[in-house]
Amino acid sequence: MNASKLKIYQFPCRQDNYGVILHDPQSGTTISIDAPETEAVGDVLESKGLKLTHILTTHHHGDHVEGNEALKSEYGCTIIGPAEEAAKIPGLDQSYGHGDTFDIAGHRIEVIGTPGHTLGQIAYYLPDQGVVFCADALFALGCGRIFEGTPEMMFTALERLAALPAETLVYAGHEYTLANAKFALSVDPDNSQLADRAREIEVMRDNGKPTLPTTLELELQTNPFLRADDPAIRKFLGMESHSDLDVFTEIRARKDRF
Ligand SMILES: [Zn+2]
Repeated sequence: MNASKLKIYQFPCRQDNYGVILHDPQSGTTISIDAPETEAVGDVLESKGLKLTHILTTHHHGDHVEGNEALKSEYGCTIIGPAEEAAKIPGLDQSYGHGDTFDIAGHRIEVIGTPGHTLGQIAYYLPDQGVVFCADALFALGCGRIFEGTPEMMFTALERLAALPAETLVYAGHEYTLANAKFALSVDPDNSQLADRAREIEVMRDNGKPTLPTTLELELQTNPFLRADDPAIRKFLGMESHSDLDVFTEIRARKDRF
C-alpha cells in the first residue's frame, strides 16, 4: 500500500460548488472529485502543472459531471462512478456500489452508498488519508435535498457516513453552510457549540473563506441532520416519543420550507 499523503486542492466553482483535486506526488496520479466545471478544473490542473488521471463521480447531476467528457478527451483520464447511475454518467469507464473497494496508485478507496439526493449517489472514503468526499449527501451543518429517494434512504446514508472515525475530514459538494447554520439554529436553538460555530461561519464567509472541509466530529456535535437522537432537539420539536427516522424526516421537511 502507498500510505503517502495526497495533496488536496479544494476550489470554488460555478455558483456555490466546490471542486477538489487530489495529487499523489510519488506516482503523479491526479484525481478530480467530480468535474463540476471544465474550465475551473482545467485551470487548477494547469496552474499546478498536473495531468488528470482519474475522475471520481459521485452522482449524475449536471453540476457534478459537466466536465467529464471534455476533461476525458483532453487528458484521457479514467472516469469512475456510481453503478446505480451508470447510464447517466458521461464517459464512465468503471462503476462501483456500496461496500465496494478499489485502489488507485496504492491508495485504498471505499465506496459508501449514499442514496436519497439521487437514487445512486456514492461517497468515496480514503482511510489512509482520513478523508471522505460525500458531495450532496452530508454538508457542513446540512444534508442534501431529497430529490429522488426517500427520507429513510437519506437517513441511512447519513448513518453510514456518521459511522466513520470522528476525526475524518469531510469534503462536500457545495458552500451552503451559512444558510444551513441559520436553519440549524431554528431547530437546535440552545446548542451553544452550534451558536459559536454559526458566528465563526459568518466571519469566515465575510472574509471569503471556505467553511469546508469540516470534520465528522464537529458535524456530530452541531449538524441537526446527524442529531435526530438528541434529547434537546426532540423536545424542541415535541417528538420525544418518535423514532429517530421520524425526527430526521421532520427536520428535513422543515429545511425544505425554511
Ligand atoms: Zn446534486
